[in-house]
This record gives sequence, structure tokens and C-alpha cells, in this order.
Amino acid sequence: MTQQNTVYEHVQVKRMLHYVKVWFLPFKWGTNTYRGCEHNCLYCNARYTHEYLGLPMGAFAHKILVKDNAAEVLDKEFSRVTWRNNLTVNLATVTDPYQPAENRFKITRRVLDVFLKHHNALLVTTKSDLILRDLDLLKQIGQTGFLNVTVTLPTLDEDLRKLIEPNAPSIEKRLRLIRELHIAGITTGVTAIPLLPYISDHEKDVESLIKAVAEKGADYVVADVLNFRGETRTRYMSFLQTYDPTLIPKYEALYPTNYCDNTYARKIRQHTNKIIKKFEVNQYHKMYSFRRS
Ligand code: SF4
Repeated sequence: MTQQNTVYEHVQVKRMLHYVKVWFLPFKWGTNTYRGCEHNCLYCNARYTHEYLGLPMGAFAHKILVKDNAAEVLDKEFSRVTWRNNLTVNLATVTDPYQPAENRFKITRRVLDVFLKHHNALLVTTKSDLILRDLDLLKQIGQTGFLNVTVTLPTLDEDLRKLIEPNAPSIEKRLRLIRELHIAGITTGVTAIPLLPYISDHEKDVESLIKAVAEKGADYVVADVLNFRGETRTRYMSFLQTYDPTLIPKYEALYPTNYCDNTYARKIRQHTNKIIKKFEVNQYHKMYSFRRS
């Protein structure tokens, strides 16, 4: 992938919270501090969100909208009498709150201050060890409310990682991150999504991945195979053309739609779940906030 310069545009937003209608997720509310994501993952299914803004999907990783008033707006939303602070909010549902932009703009850090002020239940999802900068705030949120951090790590193959997540932190950094979060006493999950069919979903590779994160202290692992949305399928297929063209007919058979063949996906989930159980990274109850009414 060619590297392009990143353009930052500062915007004011009217709303920060949005309702998430996915029954199996451990939260019903989500928020994002940026639009667009510099990590530029090959398999990213959030790229279509730039289209809503009238921007080309290709700009998703290079034109980043910085929500300057995110903290003020969220503070107002959490202050409403109808809001309950035991409603877990996922930061972030669409883009990574600790992408490189956060180093400069610190929007996510200001948003964490708001979570702390309201003792609101928080689930953070990231690929970046930049989150360790905010360990002071995260520890306080965890002590006075509910906190759960999920680190995305779909492979232990660093060469593959460079191809599929070109601007995201290395695997070594993410493993260290899991360890640091565990040492800090923070509930830490790992999202091993997506496992790439015929590339990174072999049983021995999945076992090595789950064993490695279990040894770092992960509380739970969630894993699943690749699915497509929007232009991701086209991007992925052109990647296969270079990576291994012999896989193209196999993928065409496996993906008659944007979703992986059910029988294949079930087989991967079954062996993955067996490994998750073996290494006892199945403490899924820790994902949920039930502590207050
Ligand atoms: S980190 Fe997430 S949001 Fe960002 S490019 Fe990768 S998959 Fe997309």
C-alpha cells in the first residue's frame, strides 16, 4: 500500500453517543473521537462511514476528522436525567481512539475525563499501546466505575501484520500492552478478528496466538473469521492477487456473499472455542457491567 500524507480537519459535533443495535455485543451505546482511521487495516469494514460524509472511502485512512468538542458534548449527554451511568459505552465502535492523531490532539484523553467525572461504564477497543499514556485515568475509572479494555490482535505473524495493518502498532507492542493492562489490574480482552481463511486461521496458529495472549494475562478472547462490507472485498481480493493468487478461487467459493460460508466459519469457531477453553481465556462475564441500577 502506498503511504499518503494525512490531512486533519477539525470539526464540531452535535452528538457523541449512538445506539448500537447488535444483540450479541456487550454494550448498546458507542462513541468515537475521530472519523476515519490512520491504521488503514486492509480488512477494515468501517470505511463506508466516510461515504456518509460525502468523502471517498479511499480517504478513510488519510482524511481524519478530529472532533474538537467531543468531551463537552459527551459531558452534556451524560448529564441528562434520562441517562444511566451503568450503560456501558464502547469507545470506539467505528474508529480507533488511539490512532496516531490522538498523540497530537488528545481528544480521547479529554473524553476519558468525562467518563471519570460521571463514573460511566466504559469499554475501550484499540490496537494501540498509546492507551498506556492514559493509564492514570483508566485506573481511576476502573476503581470508581466499570472498565474493560479490548486489544485487537488477529495474528502473531509480524510480516502478515505489516501487510494487513500497515500503520498499527507491532504485535510485540500489543502483547506488551496486554501485559501492562493486566499488571495495572484492568480487565483485558483480546479480539482476534478477523482470522483470515487459509492464511491465519490454521489451528496451530490460532493456538499460538491464544496461548501468547493468555500468558500475558488476557481475561478473555473473542475470535471470528473475516467478513466483508462495502469496498473491503475489492481491496482484499486485490491484496490476494499479490499475496497468493492461488487463494482467489478458494475465496470466491468461500464468499458467495460478503459473509464467509457458514460451514467453514462454524468449523473455525469450534476449534477456536476449544483452544480458548483450554487456555481459560473465557471469562466473558467480565465484559458486562451490572454493578449499579
Ligand atoms: S484500527 Fe479498526 S477502524 Fe482503524 S483501520 Fe483498523 S479496523 Fe479500521
